[in-house]
Amino acid sequence: MDLTTDLTYLKGVGSARARMFAAKGLETVEDLLHYIPIRYEDRSNVKTIGSLAPGEMATVLATVRSARLANLRGRRLDLFEAVFTDGSPQLLIATWFHARYLEGVLVPGQRVALYGKVEYDDFKGELALRHPEFEILAGDDPDASLHVGRVVPIYEAVQKINAKQLRTLLHRLLAELAPVPDPMPEHVLRRLGLTDRWTALRHVHFPPPEADLAHWNSHRSPAHTRLIMEEFFWLECGLELKRRKARTAPGIPFALTDRVRERIKQMLPFKPTGAQKKVLREIAEDMAAPRPMSRLLQGDVGSGKTLVAAQAAIIALENGYQVALLAPTEILAAQHFYTWKQLLGKLGYVIVGLTGSNTAREKTQLKKLLREGLAQVAVGTHALIEEDVEFQKLGLAVVDEQHRFGVVQRLRLSRKGVHPDVLVMTATPIPRTLALTFYGDLDVSVIDELPPGRKPIVTRHVPSARIEQVYSFLLREIGKGRQAYVVYPVIEESETKSFKAAEAGYEHLSKEVFPDLRVGLLHGRMTAAAKEAVMESFKRGETQVLVSTTVIEVGVDVPNATVMVIEQAERFGLAQLHQLRGRVGRGGEQSYCVLVTEKLGDTARERVRALVDSQDGFAIAELDLQLRGPGEFFGTKQSGLPALRFADLIRDRDLLLAARAEAQSFVAHPPSPEVLRAAVAFIRDHWQRRYGLVQVG
Ligand code: ADP
Ligand code: MG
Repeated sequence: MDLTTDLTYLKGVGSARARMFAAKGLETVEDLLHYIPIRYEDRSNVKTIGSLAPGEMATVLATVRSARLANLRGRRLDLFEAVFTDGSPQLLIATWFHARYLEGVLVPGQRVALYGKVEYDDFKGELALRHPEFEILAGDDPDASLHVGRVVPIYEAVQKINAKQLRTLLHRLLAELAPVPDPMPEHVLRRLGLTDRWTALRHVHFPPPEADLAHWNSHRSPAHTRLIMEEFFWLECGLELKRRKARTAPGIPFALTDRVRERIKQMLPFKPTGAQKKVLREIAEDMAAPRPMSRLLQGDVGSGKTLVAAQAAIIALENGYQVALLAPTEILAAQHFYTWKQLLGKLGYVIVGLTGSNTAREKTQLKKLLREGLAQVAVGTHALIEEDVEFQKLGLAVVDEQHRFGVVQRLRLSRKGVHPDVLVMTATPIPRTLALTFYGDLDVSVIDELPPGRKPIVTRHVPSARIEQVYSFLLREIGKGRQAYVVYPVIEESETKSFKAAEAGYEHLSKEVFPDLRVGLLHGRMTAAAKEAVMESFKRGETQVLVSTTVIEVGVDVPNATVMVIEQAERFGLAQLHQLRGRVGRGGEQSYCVLVTEKLGDTARERVRALVDSQDGFAIAELDLQLRGPGEFFGTKQSGLPALRFADLIRDRDLLLAARAEAQSFVAHPPSPEVLRAAVAFIRDHWQRRYGLVQVG
């Protein structure tokens, strides 16, 4: 038996249990070893019933005196109640709900270990345990001492395999397994003072007698530290290898001639900000270098990323290459198509827009233009990365709102050229820890300045009871010639409900509240053409109030809109609220964001307060990350965030930084080429897929 052995071969794991494990992604011995406890309990403190005090956590060894299944007032609660004795003058009552399965298990005379919080049952006048953990103590159970009288690991159940059964399995597994090899480079272990892998694995499941449980429970035991560091170390090695590999591929050395500079100047509709100039310099240098660019352009909403991307596009275009711009939604793609057509079209480049709403005939035609190089620029949604879209000579691939796409999509776009330069853009300011993993293989440019004349957006929280005030405020702003958005939330249970909310809001606002205003409606169920028509009308200023679902969340740019009203703001995530707010404040006028709430829970209150208090995208993202955790933060599972087993990107960020430094120096100066080769092979075999690392080494 070794780490790769299938779990079915493990004693105590039949095909039924193997299926349960497999459903959790646990298939091999190694997978099971990596299934670490969620916490540890000190059951060495065994007490007699007579010495128990209400409020304490305690372990009791006792015998069942009587037991019965009761259903309360006809409700099928299957309340199981057992009375225990251990010779003390007092009795102990234990109850379990929905526990029909205990019939025939806890029978009179059975000896049991119980662990739980002691309470005093006023009604019965006895000490009680509600839903205690219990373990049968059979006289001939060789594992009996595994579950009481010591520190025990508590596992999250794997379907029907409970904590106790997992403990037994792991204990047996560790006893039968020969010590496992340690793949981590020795000098790294030594320098970081890390425990070897075998010790770490044994101790993470069964803490040694001298263990300080506080460390184990806070995931900071030597065993935990070692496993977390190992996970981060391989991840960071993988990212570093990927980064190096990308840097050595032959790229396009774009020439930065006077003509290129001249054309960029011709295109610019306004003077770039200092920050825009700085990032363009970084991008241009990267594009001129003879290796492919992989750069992230990060800038808060409204900071002017689109203009920078258009400048980069000209560099590629003037060198005779094509440019692709990928956007996550139809509306944003249409928006970019429109903007780029104005910016680049006037220089004579041919631009096509490719989205899911093109007819088959249009698509065929547009694809032909791209394939033959008759169109130089393509702007589109996912339709752009479909198999049959080909470019004659793709030189620059731009991905907007990168966090909406996965690593795979980015790759699929860039594969449409021969090592084209890649620029990904995001308005989600990624906290540093996450940036190191999520974008660890990219160089980063940051736009840290907004275009001139922008005033901070005034943000207010208004309970829905006072909505009338919001309406009259909105009327005043529109009287001054401004425009407004009113946004309704995505209702998670049902997409239908969410668009109904917007539709009902639209009916109400257009007929009853603002009968004299021109009110428009925008939601995801409309055809692309209808959406475009609505946006056009809003952009031209004909529509004064745009009622919408979150389809406008990213990228929409109408500088004359100065009021953003968000209905049921408590239903939105923090980053989403920040994005929505970023739809206003895009011109020189004072802009406002009104968060209307109905029912406000604690975290929602915190979100609303954060938004009212701050406009700093980074601070907001940090808080969002803390409130939601990294997985949720990026939304999708396929976002490229690695699936970590031991480590937690928030809790363990200090360890991540240390592991990263170590990984970088290891890849740069391996003790020998063989050691590095072994590491590359190890990462490829073990971690590549899980970490979403494509093309390591
Ligand atoms: P982002 O994509 O970063 O959210 P955009 O590129 O959509 O931001 O730009 C936001 C708005 O600011 C647009 O209306 C754009 O025309 C304008 N803008 C961009 N750069 C400048 C600048 N240097 N001076 C004035 N306005 C600018
Ligand atoms: Mg943008």
